Amino acid sequence: MKRYVIVGNGVAASACIEGIRNVDPDGAVTVISAENRPAYCRPLISYYLEGRADPAKIGYRAPDFYEKTGCRVLYGQTAEAIDPAAKTVSLSDGAVLPYDAVCVAAGSSPFVPPFAGLETVREKYSFMTMDDALQLEKATETPKDVLIVGAGLIGLKCAEGLYGRARSITVCDLADRVLSSILDADGAKAVQAHLEQKGLRFLLGDTVDRFDGNTAQMKNGEIVRFDVLVLAVGVRANTALVKNAGGACGRGITVNEKMETSLPDVFAAGDCAEGEDVSFGARRVLALMPNACFQGYTAGVNMAGGEKKLTDAIPMNAIGFFGLHIMTAGTYTGDVYEEKTALGSKKFFTADGVLKGFILIGETQRAGLYTALIRNRTPLEGVDFALIRKTATSAAFSKETRAKMFGEVV
Ligand SMILES: Cc1cc2nc3c(=O)[nH]c(=O)nc-3n(C[C@H](O)[C@H](O)[C@H](O)COP(=O)(O)OP(=O)(O)OC[C@H]3O[C@@H](n4cnc5c(N)ncnc54)[C@H](O)[C@@H]3O)c2cc1C
Repeated sequence: MKRYVIVGNGVAASACIEGIRNVDPDGAVTVISAENRPAYCRPLISYYLEGRADPAKIGYRAPDFYEKTGCRVLYGQTAEAIDPAAKTVSLSDGAVLPYDAVCVAAGSSPFVPPFAGLETVREKYSFMTMDDALQLEKATETPKDVLIVGAGLIGLKCAEGLYGRARSITVCDLADRVLSSILDADGAKAVQAHLEQKGLRFLLGDTVDRFDGNTAQMKNGEIVRFDVLVLAVGVRANTALVKNAGGACGRGITVNEKMETSLPDVFAAGDCAEGEDVSFGARRVLALMPNACFQGYTAGVNMAGGEKKLTDAIPMNAIGFFGLHIMTAGTYTGDVYEEKTALGSKKFFTADGVLKGFILIGETQRAGLYTALIRNRTPLEGVDFALIRKTATSAAFSKETRAKMFGEVV
């Protein structure tokens, strides 16, 4: 019987279990879970804070998932080291697990810059885990002034979660715009205006110079008083297990299309891995749920001796803030086409005759057609691009393109 070990218990790990079971119904699967709970949908932690998500219902899979898939989960344990020669994983409790194939699906950790005086701040939090959300819930039992450092996805999701609980929310970021990693300047402006309407205050192009207890002195001189500080500056891929074992790593653990690392029988998937982004044409960490799911499943199939390659990974985000829907995908290079819509705007980026990326703000229906164009690198000569920019409809595809994309008979 083959022995599988999965380090981490998030989306990538769950998908890895499914990939393994699709090929090998009998092998022994052990999951090492640093968090003391079954895999859950991390994006839902802000909904929990808002009171919109029942903690019992944020599980990524049904409560009997591990039982049904026949996995053993070691909760509250961390993997400390992988020995690729002995093919073992050492755990925090001193146990040593032998494996035939191991998948590192360890996600990422919050990055905390060395701010001067940070040690003087008593109430400071990250916003990555359900435990973080529970702590923030407690910290804001009575209305508090909140300072969030970081106007990226996690910082803004935290702001949305705390809205209604906090007396005031100020968000600062060194970047000159919100969501700088996924929006261009116009899109960021629209989203910022929407958030400001709700009462959020932004200090952009600025960050904290030093903390002193409950005050932050900004680089531009402004003093911001707060009760609760959230640090959402960014995340770093958890690469140490593979790096320390001698495996290749960039910003994430280097993986090929089968999610193999440079170490034999060691795979990696999800936020800790760095695979090919086909819209960018280079390796990148794509720290997103769909990617964690595709990568985890691919790793699982290959670990169990099946054959699967992930050849169409692209960055894509589907998020919303206070009812404003945003969807983005791909890279923003080449020629730009913009359509204004009743609810916002759609922006498309094309180069070399294919769609490279898009930013949809407000109207995001059927955006899967756009992502399919990017993933498949569909030549736009077979597409009525003027039509599809306005309405995501398969009627915009030529017969040949429809046949290629949907298998229709021409
Ligand atoms: C607030 C928030 C909002 C988000 N919103 C979106 C969104 O709208 N859309 C989207 O696509 N993505 C979103 N994301 C990102 C998304 O949640 C991640 O891409 C996804 O969860 C990654 O899954 P993963 O399985 O790779 O890692 P994780 O879900 O991070 O799971 C990794 C697990 O491994 C554990 N671990 C780490 N090291 C060890 C070790 N040595 N031993 C044992 N266990 C270990 C960690 O504790 C963690 O539980 C959001 C993330 C956050 C925090």
